[in-house]
Amino acid sequence: MNICLLAGDGIGPDILKQARKAFSAVEKKFGHSFAFTEALIGGAAIDATGGPLPEETVTKCKASDAVLLGAVGGPKWDDVAMNIRPEKGLLGIRKALGLFANLRPAALFKELAPACYLRPDIVAQGIDVLVIRELTGGVYFGEPRGEGQRDGERAAFNTMIYKESEIRRIAKVGFESARKRRGKLCSVDKANVLDVSRFWREIVIDEHTNYPDVELSHQYVDNAAMQLVRAPSQFDVIVTENLFGDILSDEAAAITGSIGMLPSASLGAANPGLYEPIHGSAPDIAGQDKANPLATILSVAMLLRFSLNLAVEAEAIETAVKTALAQGLRTGDIMQPGQRLVGCEEMGEAVAALI
Ligand code: NAD
Repeated sequence: MNICLLAGDGIGPDILKQARKAFSAVEKKFGHSFAFTEALIGGAAIDATGGPLPEETVTKCKASDAVLLGAVGGPKWDDVAMNIRPEKGLLGIRKALGLFANLRPAALFKELAPACYLRPDIVAQGIDVLVIRELTGGVYFGEPRGEGQRDGERAAFNTMIYKESEIRRIAKVGFESARKRRGKLCSVDKANVLDVSRFWREIVIDEHTNYPDVELSHQYVDNAAMQLVRAPSQFDVIVTENLFGDILSDEAAAITGSIGMLPSASLGAANPGLYEPIHGSAPDIAGQDKANPLATILSVAMLLRFSLNLAVEAEAIETAVKTALAQGLRTGDIMQPGQRLVGCEEMGEAVAALI
């Protein structure tokens, strides 16, 4: 089983080091053997090669069964030309691997309930949402885009566009995922204003005929943003387009209390899938043994489950993370009174030992 590791920038190398320990623990416990290759992406790749996504990285990723990414970006590269910014590496690898579905589970660990930003009576109803974001279409990639002149002054524009096939395949991921969970899918759009959203809704409703057992609902994105903080327990699976999903998945993540806890998977029609924590490169704490490695370690669990079909091994990791939290281990971002503050290394060691 070949895993390609893309550490990236900032805390990327810190957290991937801990992820490796989780892989090693799984190897020992279950008798597997993982082969790792490393490749450059983001600012690290700009420094070494002049661009954020070297061809060699794409080749190595395509040759692997799954890719684990740290994070990209940082102030050092804020002023580089738009077309070679670190984020372009991320968008580029998603495109190169055909990863059209981004799965972000936002579940509240009961040990971290006090860190949740919502009222205790709302928290008590539980938060366990899977946000599925379309990843390769919409306004982030639509053409035409650029700068020009309108009415005698400078203007800039992007295009929000979806083909029917793009909506259908992400809707399928939504319905299939809902089937494996609590059977509820909420499609989020802005059909009261946007033509592209009216089309989105039409296709999702049509696709629903193949999944009559799944309960389908629709919400406008502004309402969904509000409902996520007012009554998140109503949601099982949310499916939405790229831009709305970017924002809603961060919102769903934030209400759980720590961005350092949440994994993600980006999947295409076949392997390799790409797995990464949802947070950024946290340059403010990079290299200081302060990063929370749990989002990355939980991304390893998703990788084992979705790309390598190792569900029992994935569960062993998830249980180890829960146990570490139950034992009171906390990195700075999730620290609460009465718990024990640990660094990135110690948290990684502890989870590996618990696996
Ligand atoms: P960020 O997620 O990097 O950091 C936001 C805050 O959360 C910071 O205070 C940071 O210290 C903290 N934080 C994040 N992850 C943490 C962890 N694992 N443990 C403890 N604390 C953690 O977002 P930002 O500050 O807006 O962006 C920093 C850089 O990351 C920028 O260059 C941005 O473009 C990039 N970025 C990359 C990705 C990605 O690689 N997927 C995503 C978002 C932002």
